Amino acid sequence: MTHEFHLLIGGAERAGSTGETGEVVDPATGKVIGKVAYASAEDLRDAVATAVQGFRQWSAISPWERGAILKRAAEILRTDVEGAALTITREQGKPLAQARTEVQRSADFLEWGGEEARRISDRVVAGRTRGPRIEIQSHPIGVVAAFTPWNFPMALAAKKFAGALGAGCSIICKPSQETPGSMLVMARALLEAGVAPAALAVLFGRADQVSDHLISAPDVAKVTFTGSIPIGKRLAAAAGAAIKPVTMELGGHAPVIVCSDVDPEWAADMLAEAKFANAGQICLSPSRFFVEAGIAARFSARFIARATALRVGPGTDLTSEMGPLASARRLAAVEGLVDDARSRGAKVLAGGKRVGNRGFFYAPTVLADVPDDAEILREEPFGPLAPILPFENEAQMLERANRPDFGLASYVVTHDGRRQRRLIDALEYGVVGVNGPLTHYPEAALGGWKESGVDTEGGVEILRPYQRTKHVSLA
Ligand code: NAD
Repeated sequence: MTHEFHLLIGGAERAGSTGETGEVVDPATGKVIGKVAYASAEDLRDAVATAVQGFRQWSAISPWERGAILKRAAEILRTDVEGAALTITREQGKPLAQARTEVQRSADFLEWGGEEARRISDRVVAGRTRGPRIEIQSHPIGVVAAFTPWNFPMALAAKKFAGALGAGCSIICKPSQETPGSMLVMARALLEAGVAPAALAVLFGRADQVSDHLISAPDVAKVTFTGSIPIGKRLAAAAGAAIKPVTMELGGHAPVIVCSDVDPEWAADMLAEAKFANAGQICLSPSRFFVEAGIAARFSARFIARATALRVGPGTDLTSEMGPLASARRLAAVEGLVDDARSRGAKVLAGGKRVGNRGFFYAPTVLADVPDDAEILREEPFGPLAPILPFENEAQMLERANRPDFGLASYVVTHDGRRQRRLIDALEYGVVGVNGPLTHYPEAALGGWKESGVDTEGGVEILRPYQRTKHVSLA
């Protein structure tokens, strides 16, 4: 069965004006399962003009009512978690159980944005003499251009919709062409709940053409992106040229520091589960395993056993624990990283190859003796690859763990309280997970340091990227 995914502009789903389309592929089979409409320059102009109207209408609705609408959208999404999860799994590949969690998390984000909308308030600053006072007012920034990726095609968009719509902005979202249906499911829930139809648009198309048009459009006030560092730099440069603020959630290369005081089998079980979730295609995924030498052999043995035992299969098969990679492009990238490591002397202790010849499956892979100049240690693997790097000297290990470029997630595994504090303080990362996996809940802000990002998403600050202030001095 093939699906047609249309552009959503002004509440109507329609083909692009030139009729151009792209293909949507099921990563579990490699087969085409749908067509996605591509926006033309005319469609892009229409989307921006509609969003300008939408901003006027939506920002005029009280924050209290906007909050109620977002919370209603969350409820609508929760009425068919199974259907929404199936859409995610079909186009992105993750096991259904993980897709269900993603739908619930998306609803949680919309609900949280709705709650925070109700708390929008201004501040009054006392003047320097009796009488005068200064108001710091919060205003929605305007039309938002959002670019969202394929790894969590619904949840990563939900963060942006929750913040932007909660603040009173209109939003034009370009999801990844590879996963169009997931975003449309959420957009329909928002419309059904009562979001002004002109206040949200979903566009697909040639990525460069869409982003160039939207970012340079004078009516677009804000750019928000989740994806890779190279594309983030490109979009941020275009936004900078027009002095538009950006929120960037970019890639990471998370170091994991496993200290010798912990039970290595327990640590390996916990970290293998975190590593292979979503086939390693998570920006918070642990990706460089620094294990203290005294427990490295036991840790590796257990990690290899877990990796080898993992059931890899289609996400729609309820017994699958890990699905395929999301695209042929990702499969080629992961194969390239392992080939490069091998050619530089690394040992493949588990996996290291495709699973079957249909779809984009790659075996959970464990590597040892990986030299620092191997590509896998220099670029984000974004796949089910775990290089194990034993260490003896903490200071030297920290030099390798802290990098001049990446600064998103990091992990510390030790029960020694003083060592925990020392490592947390030393890690130059925006997120540190201690003795457990990391996940992003709406109630807590999260963002990367260095090239891993600009700004945070979530938490009581969720609306802030979409607001601007007005300083009013009343004499
Ligand atoms: P990529 O660099 O080609 O694309 C990254 C994302 O940006 C995709 O979602 C893509 O649709 C989008 N994109 C590409 N060009 C764009 C443009 N001109 N305008 C707007 N959006 C554009 O990489 P990829 O192979 O799709 O993904 C792999 C890399 O992306 C990973 O290594 C990882 O670093 C990063 N990534 C990060 C996250 C995250 O959650 N931070 C999510 C997905 C991908």
